[in-house]
Amino acid sequence: MPHTPPPALVVTGATSGIGGFLTGGYGGGWVAADGFTDTPWDPDSMRAFGAVIGASILWAVGDEVCPLDELDRVVHWMAGESAGQCGPCVFGLPALSEDVHSLASRAVDPERDTRLQRRLALVTGRGGCKHPDGVARLIGTGLAAFADEVAAHGAGRCTATSGLGARLPVPPARVAVIDGAGKDFR
Ligand code: SF4
Repeated sequence: MPHTPPPALVVTGATSGIGGFLTGGYGGGWVAADGFTDTPWDPDSMRAFGAVIGASILWAVGDEVCPLDELDRVVHWMAGESAGQCGPCVFGLPALSEDVHSLASRAVDPERDTRLQRRLALVTGRGGCKHPDGVARLIGTGLAAFADEVAAHGAGRCTATSGLGARLPVPPARVAVIDGAGKDFR
């Protein structure tokens, strides 16, 4: 049977500029808007962007919304969504959440980028399941897709024009799991 190419991703009807896309849900990956539309919606094409189809969810983030603030809220929630049985979830995810929150809050910390990359490498592949890997991918792809915004935040600025656009739905975090952790995973 001849192979039928997957449909290309065509974004229409946007009511504002698009800053980027979240693909595959909260264990998925972010991609920058540039060059992503007209991409076939299939695993190989997504992988080339560091994205995943995952749960087949695609969320467009308007450029009026700060993507790092969105990342912060999702990571904070995900850091509390574990049984607390493995080192990457007990120590690594809260530590990563703290760093992402610091970045989203535009706190000036020259060590943060290096620390984030080190912590991302520490949690990846070391959990009893793939939950930490999904969170690490969400953060790592977000830092890459929104590198300009990361640089702006590192200098204490944010280029988002308002926070009034559609925002990712995030349940209340289980903060008790997060509070008191925030250590390196060693
Ligand atoms: S790595 Fe997976 S199994 Fe281990 S605590 Fe985290 S969510 Fe639970």
